[in-house]
Amino acid sequence: MLDSGDVPLEPLPSVVTAKPRKRQTLLTLPFAPFPPTRTRDRGPVFPVGPKTQAFRNSFYPRVADAQWNDWRWQLKSRITSYQDLGSMLALSEAEQAAANCGAPLPLAITPYYLSLFHDQGPDNGVRRSIVPTGFERLVNPGEAEDPLGEDHHSPVPGLVHRYPDRVLFLTTDYCAAYCRYCTRSRRVGKKACSSGNRKHWDAAIDYIARTPSVRDVLLSGGDPLTMSDAALDYLLGRIRAIPHVEVMRIGTKAPMVLPQRITPQLTRVLRRYHPLMISVHCTHPGELSPESAEAFKRLADAGIPLGSQTVLLKGINDDVPTLKSLMHGLLKNRVRPYYLYHCDPVQGTGHFRTSVAKGVEMIEGLRGHTSGYAIPTFVVDAPGGGGKIPVNPDYIVGQDGDDLVLRNFEKKQFRTHDPLTAPACGMGDK
Ligand code: SF4
Repeated sequence: MLDSGDVPLEPLPSVVTAKPRKRQTLLTLPFAPFPPTRTRDRGPVFPVGPKTQAFRNSFYPRVADAQWNDWRWQLKSRITSYQDLGSMLALSEAEQAAANCGAPLPLAITPYYLSLFHDQGPDNGVRRSIVPTGFERLVNPGEAEDPLGEDHHSPVPGLVHRYPDRVLFLTTDYCAAYCRYCTRSRRVGKKACSSGNRKHWDAAIDYIARTPSVRDVLLSGGDPLTMSDAALDYLLGRIRAIPHVEVMRIGTKAPMVLPQRITPQLTRVLRRYHPLMISVHCTHPGELSPESAEAFKRLADAGIPLGSQTVLLKGINDDVPTLKSLMHGLLKNRVRPYYLYHCDPVQGTGHFRTSVAKGVEMIEGLRGHTSGYAIPTFVVDAPGGGGKIPVNPDYIVGQDGDDLVLRNFEKKQFRTHDPLTAPACGMGDK
């Protein structure tokens, strides 16, 4: 979380639990439902989808459009208590179990994100990814607090240097909403953590400046886009000033949980620092909405290449139709599917983890059945810091003499001439 005492920039707003409003009938509402509304100071129209509007009508009928579409209001109004959540959702037994025994990860859901599943049951994919259950208390064999060994690859606090030419900069421990399977649950949302203050930023920037092999800096967290425009401007400017840094990337879930954050002011800041890329963390097609589409449009129109990162989660997105629908929806929004992750063995996430074979099955179900642009790379992030290891279906059947035998997506076999010994070219072979 940002330490406002150390960062000489606009601090994050304090987190205030939303007071859920009583249900009202639609006829008494003071504002019109869909189509789009205009924000007070965010410039162009920001849409409000019909699902979200219905939720507003029920629980936030007196919240004006300008407030609802203000990302700071969304952050201040996050639902952070089981009592408030229970007033908006009929909690299942498993969800109540989390409330009764306390969850290891804090609970936080923006009103906007809750609107995407407020009328869905406990099996809904978006709901399962963000509403805690008692299963988080179960620790399974092989699970660890820091399964990727990030803390052992940190030359300075808040910076992970695991690959030769790039670093992971943990800018803040704060997120708009807390995903229940988070790899960094050991630090996000916990005040005692070290990243996100000026002292640690300076140490990380100094390290990058004196390490010429670093050509690519990934800003992550927590979610960097929960920080103010001024803080981002400062940080991106400092890193961009380092001559050997060629590329900067930002990892964020804001377009899915806080799309209102993608303001014209923000894109004006970001576009000053090209080449800059954004990896969007998305989980389920239910996260795609008129609001997220507008956020993606604003980022893409600012010339920012967009990629996606998705964690494969049992019962949430581990079937081909769901995954294909998500990948197609992303592509339509100019987001190129990038990585599909095997769920890291973080403590308390066993109920989400599929087998690695399930991930291979997903790629098998996509490859050949949709365009290559819609197919992410399935990777296992090796425990202990081994890095991302791609795992693919095997399309090589075998070698037969000078032929390589391959199979296609329909399991039909084909041969291609591929001699084990390259023929001599006849020139210069003496
Ligand atoms: S947005 Fe990323 S860092 Fe934040 S809780 Fe979700 S997975 Fe963790």
